[in-house]
Amino acid sequence: MTDDANAPKHSNTLTYWIAGAIVVAIAVALLWPHFAMHFDIGGELFLRSLKMIVVPLVFTSVMCGILGLGDVRRLGKPGATAVGYYLCTTVLAVIVGLIVVNVLRPGVGTVDKARLQEFSQGSENPKQVLRRTLAEESGLTEAEVAGVLHDLPAVEDDIPSTSKILENLALMLVTDNLFQAAAEMQLLPIIVFTICFGALLTTMPNRTRSITTLISEANDALLAFVMILMKIAPLGIFCLVTARFGKAQAEGKFMQEIGQIGWYFAAVLIGLAIHAFIVLPLIFWIVRRENPYRYAAAMSQALLTAFSTASSSATLPVTLECAESAGISKRSSEFVIPLGATINMDGTALYEAAAAIFIAQVIGQDLSMSQQVIVAVTATLAAIGAAGIPEAGLVTMLIVLNAVGLPLEYIGLILSVDWLLDRFRTAVNVFGDSVGAAVVAVTIPEDEIPEPPAYAPTGQ
Ligand code: ASP
Repeated sequence: MTDDANAPKHSNTLTYWIAGAIVVAIAVALLWPHFAMHFDIGGELFLRSLKMIVVPLVFTSVMCGILGLGDVRRLGKPGATAVGYYLCTTVLAVIVGLIVVNVLRPGVGTVDKARLQEFSQGSENPKQVLRRTLAEESGLTEAEVAGVLHDLPAVEDDIPSTSKILENLALMLVTDNLFQAAAEMQLLPIIVFTICFGALLTTMPNRTRSITTLISEANDALLAFVMILMKIAPLGIFCLVTARFGKAQAEGKFMQEIGQIGWYFAAVLIGLAIHAFIVLPLIFWIVRRENPYRYAAAMSQALLTAFSTASSSATLPVTLECAESAGISKRSSEFVIPLGATINMDGTALYEAAAAIFIAQVIGQDLSMSQQVIVAVTATLAAIGAAGIPEAGLVTMLIVLNAVGLPLEYIGLILSVDWLLDRFRTAVNVFGDSVGAAVVAVTIPEDEIPEPPAYAPTGQ
C-alpha cells in the first residue's frame, strides 16, 4: 500500500529529460527527416536491451510475487480480482470507443470516392500487407511474426466464430514448448507456467528457501539492470522517436493521410483521453481514495517509454520499476503487472472497436445494435489476444472486421497513421496495467501476509 514516506521516489529530472528528448526528436525529424532516419540503429539497440530482459524479468517477478504471497491458496483472490478487473476495464474502454465513434461519426463524408476505390481494388492481399507492417514496425523476423500470428484464426482463415476465437485464446495460455514461447516473446504461456511452478513450490516449504533466495536476487539484479537502462533512456528514446517520425516525414504520406482521415485519428485520441483521464482515474480514486493524477505522474517514465517503443512488453521492466517506486506493494505489482502487460489492453480494445465502426461508416454500412455488440465482444477478445508489440492490435482487428463481415482491405485506409495511434494506445495500455496493480494491491492486505522470509534479499 502507498504510504507517503514511500511515495514517488523517482527523480523528476529523468522524466523531464525523456519528455524533452521526445520533443527534440520530433522537431529534428520534421526539419531533417533523412538525417533523423540514421538514428534508427541507436533506437534499435535500446529497444533490444529492454526486450532482452523481459522474459527473465517476467519469470523472476511473477515468481517473487507468488512466493511472496506465501500460501498458494491466497493466490485465488488477487488472481481473480486482477483478471476480473482487467476484463471490466477493457469492456469499459470498448464502450467509450463505441460511444465516441458513434457520436462523432468520423467516417461519414470524410473519405472521397477515389481514395476508397484505391483500397477496394487493391491487388495485394490485406493479410500479407499486415504481416509486412507488423514485421517492419516491430523489428521481428518473418519467423517471429509467424509465431505471434500463429494463434490468430482470422489471419489464416475467414470468419472465425466466437467459439473458435475463445478456443484459440485458450490455446494461447498453454505452450507445448516453453523455450519457443520465450524466443517468440509470447509472455502468456510463460506466466501460466511460472504461476503453476511458483504455486507448487509454495506447497513445499522446506525446499523453497534456496530457490527463493536465488530468484529474488536475480530479480533484484534485473531491476538494477532496468535502472541502468533508464539512465540512458533519454538517448535511446530520442533515437527511437526521431527515426520513426523522420521516416513518416520523409515518406510524406503521414501528413497527406491526416488530411483525409484526421477526424478518425482525432476521434480515437479523444476516446483514449476519456479512458485515461476520466475512467481509469475515477476507478483509482473510488478504490484507493488517493489522487490518481499524482499516481499517473509517478508512472510517467513508463508512459513515455510506452509511447516511444509502442510495445507494452518492452516497457514492462520500466512499468514494474515505476509502480514499485510509486509505492505499490512489490508483491502486488510483481504478480499483477506482467499479467496486465499481456492480457490487459484497454487502449487497443478501444481503438479496435472505433476503427471497425469507422470503416463501416466510410463504406456506408450502418451497423445495427446487435452488430455493435458483436464488435464490442470481439474487440475485447482481440485485445486480450494481441501481443504487447508494435501494431499487434492492427492485426487482431481482422477478427473484429471478420465477425461483422466488413471487408478486410479497408484496413489499408488506416494503415499509414496507425504507427502513431499505436503509441498513444500503448501508453493507455500501460497506464491501465498500472492502475490495475494499484487496485489489486488493495485486495492483498499486507498485514495478513507474512513478511517475505528474512533470507530473501529485498534491496539492491
Ligand atoms: N502496441 C500495443 C502494445 O504493445 C498493442 C497494439 O498494437 O495495440 O500494447
